[in-house]
Amino acid sequence: MQIYHRYFIQYMLKNGVTTVDNAFNFCKHISKEKIENMTHFKTLVIEVNREISKQFYRIVFNTCEVTNQDLIVWLSTKDDDISKHQIAYSALELEYFNAILQQILGSDEHQITFIVCINITSTLTSNYSRDNGQKILNKWLKGGYYIKHGEFIYLGPRTILEFASYLRSHCPDCICNLCSELVFTGTQCSHCYKKLHSYCLAKYLLNQSICPCCKNIWMELNEETYTNAYLGTELGSNQNMDTDDIDTDEMTSASTSYGPERSSSLVKRSGRRNTRNEDSQPNHDLNEPGPSGRKCQK
Ligand SMILES: [Zn+2]
Ligand SMILES: [Zn+2]
Repeated sequence: MQIYHRYFIQYMLKNGVTTVDNAFNFCKHISKEKIENMTHFKTLVIEVNREISKQFYRIVFNTCEVTNQDLIVWLSTKDDDISKHQIAYSALELEYFNAILQQILGSDEHQITFIVCINITSTLTSNYSRDNGQKILNKWLKGGYYIKHGEFIYLGPRTILEFASYLRSHCPDCICNLCSELVFTGTQCSHCYKKLHSYCLAKYLLNQSICPCCKNIWMELNEETYTNAYLGTELGSNQNMDTDDIDTDEMTSASTSYGPERSSSLVKRSGRRNTRNEDSQPNHDLNEPGPSGRKCQK
């Protein structure tokens, strides 16, 4: 493995998720001779994936369905490793993670307000302060497990990608007809109410004028298709990492153990109880049983 491969792994470990531009600029900076353009960068990702796949990790390109930003995401592909998660998060934190997930899935718009998200701490089985809730939530926001956009919290790309099997089986209606990937935040057809990624729909409507699902004429393109795009997100904060930030000690360990633990086990370990808030939307049978105990199939 080349030294700039290691630096890139370290960078992705630290950020979890970042924009493609940020990651590309970082790589250009650390290896001017090797990474000059996007093709070089994509080759680097392939090479690094070859290395980290042995430890059940993968780096993928993804478009954020909330902000339409082009992202690069660090993922765990391992099915389960409870012992690692017990080190990374407490049982109560895992329960909190699961409760947020279920609340978002149960809401009509697949979003909950930040305040509701913090209030969930009072519904957990043991005492968990709002301050602690906010701290751990910030960690998950930075890691791309959740996204804060305006006053709302959404599923982050890392949760959607790592939990794809679980989410597909529990939310069969949340599939974009245009790309066949999961969609939770997008544009809804006013005829058939099917949701599509705003970025998929924007591309599709360049050449078509009917809904790809119900074939009715797409009378007026929901303004959100475009206004949702590129509004920016709090994802970008703390995403730039200077080369000075690289911790060479951590780097040594990074070659064998790739840091942040995946969220699938977070969910698995938390209880099966209903953790919804009273003011939550009715849920579609999604929180029972929760991801707890289920294997995230890859
Ligand atoms: Zn799509
Ligand atoms: Zn339709």
